[in-house]
Amino acid sequence: ESFHDVDMGEIIMGNINLSRYTRPTPVQKYAIPIIKAKRDLMACAQTGSGKTAAFLLPVLSQIYTDGPGEALQATKASTQHENGKYVRRKQYPMSLVLAPTRELALQIYDEARKFAYRSRVRPCVVYGGADIGQQIRELERGCHLLVATPGRLVDMMERGKIGLDYCKYLVLDEADRMLDMGFEPQIRRIVEQDTMPPKGARQTMMFSATFPKEIQILARDFLEEYIFLAV
Ligand code: AMP
Repeated sequence: ESFHDVDMGEIIMGNINLSRYTRPTPVQKYAIPIIKAKRDLMACAQTGSGKTAAFLLPVLSQIYTDGPGEALQATKASTQHENGKYVRRKQYPMSLVLAPTRELALQIYDEARKFAYRSRVRPCVVYGGADIGQQIRELERGCHLLVATPGRLVDMMERGKIGLDYCKYLVLDEADRMLDMGFEPQIRRIVEQDTMPPKGARQTMMFSATFPKEIQILARDFLEEYIFLAV
């Protein structure tokens, strides 16, 4: 059992080595091949199980191998002609990770930076309760993978700073906690908007510690022929 069972490209593999993760945890061992096989996933996993790397590693490797073609497309869409020059306006991340709290969003972002090192894939993070101007400036430097809390993301979308038209990979982390915190309207607003690629056209991964009725309904609505994993 090793991370080398699935090819995630030289750079990501190198970063796994740098991180000193020697053996995949159970959720990593099962989820990584499923995500690399482009299947939708509903995974029941606790905090501390290693679920963050379980979705970040295959998603980052996919963004990286999808190649400059799509990255370029997203970058092109993010520039607009204004007063005779091109200005960066709106970011179109290829991947979105929704998380319930600022603390969790920051943890995911830190892990994403570690694994994206030297890959030219640029992660960004936005969350509520902090200066939005600073977060917008960071976004405008480019964003391939966005980690966000739902309320702040809705705010960013309303300000025209984020478009989800190219969002091919969608992760809902700690989905049960997001619902407990009352984020369902914001989550539905984000996932069900017209410009978001519909299920089937995007790959969706949900992680949750529990699997109550409300999560089953969300899975039914957001996932396409998904694989259910409980570790
Ligand atoms: P998570 O469940 O994703 O919050 O991860 C829990 C902790 O385990 C984090 O501090 C990770 O850095 C660490 N971790 C995750 N996967 C591994 C692994 N394969 N080997 C060693 N540590 C890991």
